[in-house]
Amino acid sequence: MSKKGRILTGDRPTGGGKPHLGHYVGSFANRVRLQDEYELFLLVADYHALTTHPSREDVAGLRDSVRQIVMGYLAVGIDPEKATIYRQSDVPTVAELTLLFTMLVTVARVERVPTLKEKMAESGIENPSLGLLSYPVLQAADILHVKADLVPVGKDQESHIEVTREIARRFNTLYGEVFPEPQALIGEVPTLMGIDGRAKMGKSLGNAIYLMDDPETVRQKVMSMYTDPKRIHAHIPGTVEGNPVFQYHDAFNPDKAEVEDLKERYRTGRVGDVEVKKKLVKALNAFLEPIRERYAYYSARPALIDDILAAGADKVRPISKATLDEAREAMGLGALR
Ligand code: ATP
Ligand code: MG
Repeated sequence: MSKKGRILTGDRPTGGGKPHLGHYVGSFANRVRLQDEYELFLLVADYHALTTHPSREDVAGLRDSVRQIVMGYLAVGIDPEKATIYRQSDVPTVAELTLLFTMLVTVARVERVPTLKEKMAESGIENPSLGLLSYPVLQAADILHVKADLVPVGKDQESHIEVTREIARRFNTLYGEVFPEPQALIGEVPTLMGIDGRAKMGKSLGNAIYLMDDPETVRQKVMSMYTDPKRIHAHIPGTVEGNPVFQYHDAFNPDKAEVEDLKERYRTGRVGDVEVKKKLVKALNAFLEPIRERYAYYSARPALIDDILAAGADKVRPISKATLDEAREAMGLGALR
């Protein structure tokens, strides 16, 4: 049997660590789908959280947020027997690899990464820290220390994977073939819109439906969702494209005939927003119900989550050290003593 390819991807424990629908369609669904075919590594990126959330209060909340993220993985159907789940800072060799990689990227290159400007605007940061600037370099080390082949991410992360590929190429050209050039795998919905109609649902943006929201919260969020603002009355023809209510119907309502019928009636001014939204509430709550159940199971077992994280770190540490040794040897520094 041929050796399995490797997947690595992860999430930042920001915003309490609660996963939302955007995470699901952008990345989680692909992880669950590919967990048999690939060797799956999932990291909870606490170092990356510090790039925008370094205050004492933020750090104090990290432990719990890390657990929340892991519970989210298990709730959507990641099998802890198959996946290696670990906390980034438990494997600090990644920081040394990051340091080596920083010599291979120019400041101008990381300044051009579009997410930098977005994060600065979102978080009200005028002068980025060196850590925020080197965010994609740390991410490259995350991906490359396990020599991942595939990185399931949302569209917003594509530019970071490009930096990873450039670093791998540059290293290999300078010192010899050590790293694969990983591919980004973008989700079925590349970017899920926010309930406020903004282009991206995000934890830090306050426009998310969380996977653990209870049915009543989901109902309230959907009923207050942004739709086509032209439609003051149900008989005014509406626009389906770029309308988050229909983007969610497409992503989460398995009854395709119902969705097509709603779109047709919406376009021709023969359905009210309330009906479209009520059907979305029903579809979303049906989708979320089994996730909520598994989440409740795991949230009652915090020790199990800690065991999973400890086992994950134990498994990744030697892999990471072996890669670092190989990189140091290739460079002529020699392996760690
Ligand atoms: P933050 O706002 O703090 O950056 P986030 O909601 O963007 O949080 P991350 O932890 O940065 O969450 O992202 C985790 C993964 O989920 C990444 O692969 C990212 O591309 C994907 N993702 C996040 N939001 C969306 C979205 N709205 N649509 C598709 N994918 C998304
Ligand atoms: Mg993000």
